[in-house]
Amino acid sequence: MTSPVREATLIAGDGIGPEITQATLQVLDALGVRFDWDEEYGGMSAVEMAGTPLPNATLDSIRRTRLALKGPLTTPVGGGYRSVNVALRQEFDLYANVRPTKTIVPGGRYQDIDLVIIRENTEGLYVGLDHTFRVGDDPKAVAQATSVMTRDGCRRICRYAFEYAKAHGRKRITIVHKANILKATSGLFLETGRLVAKDYEGVIACEDKIVDNTAMQLVINPQQFDVIVTTNLFGDILSDEAAGLVGGLGLAPGANIGAKAAIFEAVHGSAPDIAGQGIANPTAQMLAAGMMLDHVGEREAATRLRNAIEQTIAVDNIRTRDLGGSVSTINFAQAVASRT
Ligand code: NAD
Repeated sequence: MTSPVREATLIAGDGIGPEITQATLQVLDALGVRFDWDEEYGGMSAVEMAGTPLPNATLDSIRRTRLALKGPLTTPVGGGYRSVNVALRQEFDLYANVRPTKTIVPGGRYQDIDLVIIRENTEGLYVGLDHTFRVGDDPKAVAQATSVMTRDGCRRICRYAFEYAKAHGRKRITIVHKANILKATSGLFLETGRLVAKDYEGVIACEDKIVDNTAMQLVINPQQFDVIVTTNLFGDILSDEAAGLVGGLGLAPGANIGAKAAIFEAVHGSAPDIAGQGIANPTAQMLAAGMMLDHVGEREAATRLRNAIEQTIAVDNIRTRDLGGSVSTINFAQAVASRT
């Protein structure tokens, strides 16, 4: 049975974005899944084309397709542009940030890691209530940040995490918090998470851990974790820590998901130092496309894609320079395509 052709927005992005996106499209073609791509611009390339890093045409496209694959965007320094990634998160209320971490490269420090961190993406200390106050002659004598958590916000991210676990055959959720100190904000998150967990009793096991202990446990015994659900700041830090355990951001995909849209991307940036050289590692962007396939129900194609990447790297030993190999972006893509 041929799968339906879905409309989706494609933002190739800046720097190495076009190279890793082209490589990813090549592999999607080989998989036999077809998207009707609406190609739009974001970041520096959009500033050059349309005078703004986030043109209305790009927003309109995502509003219509509700689905996007995005390359990394260079955030212009100076010039008063806000981060496009933050703007997209706010515009589409992308409340769930999903970051899987899996060992792919053999022989590293850790084997058999296979965990997912689900981070609340809209609340907590990142709501933007961050101020300095003048006292006497010192304009920045006092700095204050306010964390805002809502019961609804806690509930929807925890429910998302449990539903994600159910849909992906995961067995255990760890609610990560700092409720021993931040009794109101982190306390609300923990209390709400425990309530949500009751609806999944006997299906998904639930435990909770304090964030500092979690950071240490991730280094000592990362294999113990299955799905972690946590608040914005803690998730930001822990998900990069987890990526570091399996070889860094070059292998780390991410998804930003809300009720109105879902945007899939590599976690790394536009890598201006190697842009245009044809040597970037497209693995993270390919894995992001795999998450997008899962999201639209193409589970079998997503599994084939992940297996092809793993076999290319671990069995065939075909790797880009950042992983100690020597193949180009396109040759790596060809190798993955032939493994699908
Ligand atoms: P970066 O991730 O672009 O690069 C850090 C280092 O990792 C560089 O040495 C780079 O060559 C290497 N690297 C990154 N991805 C790689 C890949 N796929 N293959 C091989 N090597 C890779 O981080 P940065 O230099 O701090 O940021 C550059 C720009 O990207 C900045 O403008 C930043 O704002 C932006 N950025 C965008 C996103 C996004 O759009 N999601 C995320 C992070 C940074």
